[in-house]
Amino acid sequence: MTVTVHDPPVVVWTCRTTSPDDTGRLGRLLGEALEGNELVTLNGDLGMGKTRLVQGLADGLGLPPGTVTSPTFAIRHDHRGRLPLAHLDFYRLSDPDEIDWLGLLDVPDQAVTVIEWADKLQTALPSDRLEIALRPGPERDERVLTWTARGPAAKRVLTAVQTAHAR
Ligand code: ADP
Ligand code: MG
Repeated sequence: MTVTVHDPPVVVWTCRTTSPDDTGRLGRLLGEALEGNELVTLNGDLGMGKTRLVQGLADGLGLPPGTVTSPTFAIRHDHRGRLPLAHLDFYRLSDPDEIDWLGLLDVPDQAVTVIEWADKLQTALPSDRLEIALRPGPERDERVLTWTARGPAAKRVLTAVQTAHAR
């Protein structure tokens, strides 16, 4: 586990998971740490576990198992647990203007917004966000997750996840 503090203040944390369930548990810690109005972006190739992480996050928000599926075709799924959850997938988008045209970031008050493939249109997103990059680890079911908190809300959430993960 490494924690790096840059100036301007951006916090980076790297951790690993060794199975889909492990990624789900990490997602649950993230869901439990959320307080509302946060933006979480998920980047990484197909099959890296972005949707699996969101399923855990939804569990942490108190949503029933099986609620979250990939929004690749619908682009956005809305759920409501302890907080509203807007789950988006930018895989099929290519033009940053589509975010405004489709009102993709018009979410209910207190909603948590989670975006898969966010790096496709990253420049169009608010700056206070928690970015999570998933890449393969050395073992088949291993994933390396790099978390980058770019603003005060994102840093608070990341600190809470780190604390819960260390327990
Ligand atoms: P993405 O949304 O990034 O395309 P999914 O979450 O839909 O990925 O799928 C991840 C796939 O990888 C699942 O089939 C899952 O079983 C498998 N997998 C293997 N190891 C892991 C891991 N450590 N974390 C998450 N998923 C894993
Ligand atoms: Mg997915």
